[in-house]
Formats: sequence, C-alpha cells, structure tokens
Amino acid sequence: MSFAHLWAGWRSDYIVEATARERSGDHAHDEARCVFCRLAASGAPSEDNLVVWRGELAFVVMNAYPYASGHVLVLPLRHVSALADLTPAESAELWSATQHAVTGIETAYEPDGLNMGANLGRAAGAGLPAHVHLHVLPRWSGDTNFMTSVAETRVMPEALQLSWKRLSDAWPG
Ligand SMILES: [Zn+2]
Repeated sequence: MSFAHLWAGWRSDYIVEATARERSGDHAHDEARCVFCRLAASGAPSEDNLVVWRGELAFVVMNAYPYASGHVLVLPLRHVSALADLTPAESAELWSATQHAVTGIETAYEPDGLNMGANLGRAAGAGLPAHVHLHVLPRWSGDTNFMTSVAETRVMPEALQLSWKRLSDAWPG
C-alpha cells in the first residue's frame, strides 16, 4: 500500500492547480474541474477512490491530506458552495452520513474524542470552498489542537488505504 495506489484526482499536483486556478478567479465553480465532483462521479466505494460510503445525495471519502488517521470528509454529491443552498433532503442525508462517520470512527479507532466541522470560505481555512464538505476526525488526549492541525499537513503513520479498510469494516448500517 502506498501513494502509488492513490486515486489520481487526489494527487497534490491537481489540488495545487485547482487552488491556484480558484484563487485567480478562473473556473471557481467549474464542476468539471472540481476534485470533489470527480470523486462523486468515481463510482462505488473502493480502495482506489477511497470513498467509504455513497448514498443517494451524499458521500463520505477519506481525506487525502488527513490531520489524523481516520480523517474523513462528508459531502453532498451535488456541487454546492453554500450550506444554505443544500436542499432539505441533501441536508438530512449529509447529517445522517456525518452521524455514521462519527460512529464508524469511534468503532474503528476508539478515540478519546472527535472533531467535526466545516471551513466555509478560504479565509476560514477551506482549501476547496466551491464544494461544501464537513470534516470528521478522531482525536486523542494530548494531540495537537484542531486549529493547529488544520494549518498544516501532518505526517501520517497509517496508509490511507488501511484507514479506508478500517472505516469500511466499521461502517454502521
Ligand atoms: Zn464539486
């Protein structure tokens, strides 16, 4: 298991390119170039796309740049930049998926606690603000605090595919 297996859409060169393009104002809402839309269209959950769960309106994927092993993103399948633009049905499925992500992480990792939340807009720390996404990640007593964690990429002790397997096995329902 290595980064060689990582789904191509998650590759850092793509992220860097997308971020630069968005900062320049080009294609800020271009669904065809949105990494999350590409993930949404990447098919059934698998070790290759790192999607843990896929529903009718929302999905859960391993964060390719995790702050802790087991860090997932919960997203609507539809390209929506504003939380207020989610339909009631999308909001409901996003929330139930978030609940399942919390339960799955608790089962798989038995953490001391969890963080969940969203960075809305680049000023709040969102790397890809054009497509709403919630973070859910396990925390342990004594680890770095969340605000420090989100400021930089951490070296991860566990391969993403292993995290994907652990969470997939522990996923409720
Ligand atoms: Zn998108």
